Amino acid sequence: MLGTLGRYLRFMGYDTISANSITPGNTREDSLLLEIAAHETRVLLTRDRDLAKRGGELAIFINPVSVLNQIQELVDRGLVDPRIRLTRCSLCNEILRRARDREILNTRYAPEQRARLKFYWCVHCKKLYWTGSHADDLANRLKIGIQRPVLPGER
Ligand SMILES: [Zn+2]
Repeated sequence: MLGTLGRYLRFMGYDTISANSITPGNTREDSLLLEIAAHETRVLLTRDRDLAKRGGELAIFINPVSVLNQIQELVDRGLVDPRIRLTRCSLCNEILRRARDREILNTRYAPEQRARLKFYWCVHCKKLYWTGSHADDLANRLKIGIQRPVLPGER
């Protein structure tokens, strides 16, 4: 249910896995999610208030509906620094590497104007990412939509 938030978190470079990989209807699903969180030192983000309560320290209840408000919640808790980093694939969570010229040339959706852009590649999805356009749009949404905590000395 937090798929968009998951994509944003990956754009911000956070190692994020989705509960979708677990079979729906699995009666042990909730326990399994908490086990994974404990075992892999992850935080479980959920819109299920009861599950969040059960998870205690391991889980966070995400109440807002809009993704920017969801990110704000994580920023307020000091869990997330809201910057686009392009270090991780937004689809599969794989670490991105710099794209090779051949990969850029073979990608239909690559931009025509490439000067001053940096390109990254997901070896798993064969997906091309670059600074500018989409990344800038997301960065602007974060800049406009998210209030960062004021650090001591910044005021
Ligand atoms: Zn990928």
